[in-house]
Order: sequence, then C-alpha cells, then structure tokens
Amino acid sequence: MLNIVIFGAPGSGKGTQSERVVEKFGLNHISTGDVLRAEMKKDTGLGQTAKKYIDQGQLIPDELMIDILAGVLDSFEASKGVIFDGFPRTVAQADELKKMLAARGQEVSVMLDLDVPEEELIERLIKRGQISGRADDNEETIKKRLLVYNTQTSPLIQWYKNEGKYVHIKGCGELEEITEQIVNAITAVKNN
Ligand code: ATP
Ligand code: MG
Repeated sequence: MLNIVIFGAPGSGKGTQSERVVEKFGLNHISTGDVLRAEMKKDTGLGQTAKKYIDQGQLIPDELMIDILAGVLDSFEASKGVIFDGFPRTVAQADELKKMLAARGQEVSVMLDLDVPEEELIERLIKRGQISGRADDNEETIKKRLLVYNTQTSPLIQWYKNEGKYVHIKGCGELEEITEQIVNAITAVKNN
C-alpha cells in the first residue's frame, strides 16, 4: 500500500499535482480542503463550523479534522493506496495519521514537499482568487494562511525528515517537470 503525503504551503500545487498522479498509480485522493469546501457548499453544520476558520485563514481544530479524515479513509474502496493532500497540517495530525495507519498495518511511504518561494505563492493565490472566487484567496487572508503555514505546518518538514520519509520537490517551473519529480519519487518507494 502506498500512502503518499503531498505537502506544501497554500498555493504550492498540492491539488493540481495530486490529480495528475492519482490515476497513474491507482490511488484514492483525499483533499481535506475539497472535503471542507463541499460541506460549506451544502451548508451543513460541519460546513458552517469550517467556514468560520477558513474565512479567517485559520486551521480547523485538530480533533474535528482528524474525525473527518478517519471517516473519509473508512469510506474508500480498496485501492493501491492513498494520496493525502492537505493533511497533516500540524504535528498533532501527523502523530494521529501515523497511529491510524499503524492500526491498519501501514505507514506513510513518502512525504513530498512542494517547495515554492513565498512571492510566487502569493501571486498564484491572488490569481486563483480572481478565477475561482474562493473567499480565502484574497490578499489579507492569504497572508494569514502563510503565517499559519510557517508557524503550525512547516515544522512537519523536520518531523518527516526524522521519520526518514522526506523528499524535496522543486515546486516552481513547468507543471510537467514538477509532475515528473513526483512520479519518480513515488516510483522509487513503490519499488521498495
Ligand atoms: P493548495 O492550493 O496547495 O491546494 P490550500 O492551502 O490553498 O492548498 P486547501 O488545502 O484547499 O488549500 O485548504 C483550505 C483551508 O481548509 C485551509 O486554509 C484550512 O483552513 C482548511 N484545512 C484544510 N486542511 C486542513 C487540515 N488538515 N487541518 C486544518 N485545517 C485544514
Ligand atoms: Mg488544495
């Protein structure tokens, strides 16, 4: 079983790149951001709660996020593995993911860190906001999200280095070249 964590700051291209490799490797894709946006669109209780945090550029509380993730994982049909896009975002979430997978006799295969300079992230997110109309893609909220990333999420780089799972991906440049680095990294762990 492949368990791929695709990691990176907001706007680093986690969603775009995940979509490009799920089919190739026969993986299930879980994007926590997409799950939350679907709940917001349906205006469920969960969606209303999520909206309060997302509009402020904050993370959804760990306990809630972990419950959601566990639910989605349980709903998956058998596959060759899972690509985790947007989870974990805190050390507590990484600890929990490790436990959840261990309970299934599995582990994270590799963590792919999509590294993009901050100026480019801001540029991409502002552009995306103009097209997608995502309420959190405005300059003020983008700045908050980057701060949250730098304080709460980026410690996971060292966390996964300690686990021996970390792979750096140069996340700027041609889309195709980025995908190629990701495909190579997944192929390497797959053949292990
Ligand atoms: P990308 O553009 O690389 O796909 P992103 O940061 O723009 O990344 P999403 O991953 O879609 O966007 O997340 C959107 C928002 O959903 C986050 O800013 C956060 O508030 C919430 N969220 C998503 N995943 C988590 C998580 N694991 N823990 C807490 N909050 C989360
Ligand atoms: Mg996304």
